[in-house]
Amino acid sequence: MKVLAIESSCDETAAAVVEDGRVPLSSIVSSQVDLHAKYGGVVPEVASRQHLLKIVPVIQEALAAANCTLDDIDAVAGTRGPGLAGSLLVGYNAARAIAFGRGLPFIGINHLEGHIYANWLVEGPEPEFPALCLVVSGGHTDLVFMRGHGQYERIGGTRDDAAGEAFDKAGRLLGLPFPGGPHIARAALEGGPSSLELPRAWLHGTFDFSFSGLKTAVLHTVREGRYPVPEIAWEFQESVVDVLAGKTARLARELGARNILVAGGVAANARLREELLRRSPVPVRIPPPKFCTDNAAMIGAVAGFRLELGERTPPDVDIFTTNDWAAV
Ligand code: ATP
Ligand code: MG
Ligand code: FE
Repeated sequence: MKVLAIESSCDETAAAVVEDGRVPLSSIVSSQVDLHAKYGGVVPEVASRQHLLKIVPVIQEALAAANCTLDDIDAVAGTRGPGLAGSLLVGYNAARAIAFGRGLPFIGINHLEGHIYANWLVEGPEPEFPALCLVVSGGHTDLVFMRGHGQYERIGGTRDDAAGEAFDKAGRLLGLPFPGGPHIARAALEGGPSSLELPRAWLHGTFDFSFSGLKTAVLHTVREGRYPVPEIAWEFQESVVDVLAGKTARLARELGARNILVAGGVAANARLREELLRRSPVPVRIPPPKFCTDNAAMIGAVAGFRLELGERTPPDVDIFTTNDWAAV
């Protein structure tokens, strides 16, 4: 079964053709990052207008790259939420319109579930349940226990900033371009350990996270002016990675998870990957970097297994902007 999947929840216009929920035949991502960089963050109005300009060419490119026409497509999937309303509406309605026009099954997909299912897009055996998912993206940081396909229990998560948001805000304080994540990772390579020690918010006894204190510590360190940017970048990254990897490994042990599944843009971070692999008691699955950040192939992966179960999204179902794991 070939699914045409469309994603436009934030500032990436993306389309993909995915076979049987596991094989990405194509994955096209048109990023608006350059447009938003001068504002230091995503401007919703700019994002939705740009989606409108890009959505049709991106879908056409995804079909062509998969050597397909719409005649070869068996179902259409679109990201329903969470995300920016004006952005979501463009891709979701494009997906619904194609499905309606062609008489194809349609399904709306949760973007964060998509991030998790990027782990099904790699060759080899499927992830094993129960799995512990560490979702670390631009807007979310959650530890979610997954007993089976589509079954989620949120155990903990951030109380303030998301991990990606912390990287982006620290990047701004350090004078690095937007988005901060990849730029901090790059700067840290030139830094390495120094005498600088930034705090770790362990929030003992919980599986919650907090990154706002760390952000303030970065602000004070920058103002103090004693440490060069690469050394601050290094220590900031170590602080985030230490807590994320430490808590995830411990929870996997406590829950008897058979796999750890890492998901979201921050999963592209090489130090996070390294520390999770080093500390985890069980095999760790991390998608290749191109499937960690926003893409439509991950939406097609979720759609593959949900459509197989007979799930369809009725035409009157709207987008949503905030996530609820209990409702996925
Ligand atoms: P959400 O999925 O919560 O709606 P989003 O879709 O905007 O948010 P993603 O595309 O999953 O977020 O991830 C983007 C985030 O990942 C940004 O905050 C970015 O800084 C971060 N990121 C990307 N690459 C890296 C990296 N190598 N190291 C750390 N962070 C990174
Ligand atoms: Mg983005
Ligand atoms: Fe995302």
